[in-house]
Amino acid sequence: MQRIDLRSDTVTLPSYPMRAAMANAPVGDDQYGEDPTVRALQEKIAALLGKEAALFVPSGTMANQIGLKLLTRPGDDVVVGDEAHVVWHESGAAAANSGVQFTVVGRGGLFTAADLRAAFKPPGHIILPPTTLVAIENTHNRGGGVVFPQEDVVAICAAARELGMASYLDGARLFNTAVATGLSLAELAAPFDVVSVALSKGLGCPVGSVIAGRTGDMQRAVRARRMFGGAMRQSGILAAAGLYALDTNISRLAEDHANARIMAERLADTRVEIDLATVQSNIVIFRVPEPLPDAATVVRRAQESGVLVSAFATRTVRAVTHLNVDAAQCRHAGEVLARAVAAPSP
Ligand SMILES: *Cc1c(COP(=O)(O)O)cnc(C)c1O
Repeated sequence: MQRIDLRSDTVTLPSYPMRAAMANAPVGDDQYGEDPTVRALQEKIAALLGKEAALFVPSGTMANQIGLKLLTRPGDDVVVGDEAHVVWHESGAAAANSGVQFTVVGRGGLFTAADLRAAFKPPGHIILPPTTLVAIENTHNRGGGVVFPQEDVVAICAAARELGMASYLDGARLFNTAVATGLSLAELAAPFDVVSVALSKGLGCPVGSVIAGRTGDMQRAVRARRMFGGAMRQSGILAAAGLYALDTNISRLAEDHANARIMAERLADTRVEIDLATVQSNIVIFRVPEPLPDAATVVRRAQESGVLVSAFATRTVRAVTHLNVDAAQCRHAGEVLARAVAAPSP
């Protein structure tokens, strides 16, 4: 039986040509600034994002943690959309590393400038914690890969600036946003002070994220990366995969989006709750209402048929498409999931 792994777009395996690019990369000690491949990747991503400078880091979580460290002080308040990665998936790191608290606003990962203004707590108040940062996730993972509407992004970041706050973009899946919207990475990144993108999601690299912003902020980011234990040496081996993926794997993300759509449309024909309007990229999230089986049962049944998906909550299932699954496999996975949710609860 073939195994179709839709647990995440992080499960991709580096292709042979990607491995060849890694093997052939010129390298040096990056902490002496001597790795030409890391420097090339940083310069290329800074240019793509329209930022002055960029820094290669081991993970998206570290990029987010560096972003929070740069843009806040302990005790500050950070406004985020609900279900944010920084709140749910980073092991409490923001509290441990930067000593910040979160105010969660909006729905489905999205919010508006009015939501930000309503949540804003001014600096210099004797009781309230100062809100110094707003963080947006685009596309939004737990929101089902939904694109954050760019007019809201622009309005939120303008409001933030007016209120004296900084803005951060968790763009772990910003390449997906670019392909889904037709907007350039630079347009998507322009409203923000600091932006991160992941190479290890849809782009199919084994390791790595890049954080970008103003030169001064990125100089401080070098120190934060070292403090967090993420400064590396001959990391050009890893950066080479990123350079290869930027050339090869961006435009093909449209296939992942089409494949997610195939699965979502099949599931919409069943009794699960799925909002097709939110299926805008490579993530399919659906709710399995009573009396259908719960998420753990659906995941187990699908696995018995060779399809791996994740239980995101007791009645919520997530499937993610990526470069190691094709349209036929996603069509098959849709059938397997439709069967798994249809059979009566055990
Ligand atoms: C995956 C992801 C990250 C980073 O994850 P790592 O596993 O640490 O690379 C950050 N933000 C979002 C929205 C993500 O989906």
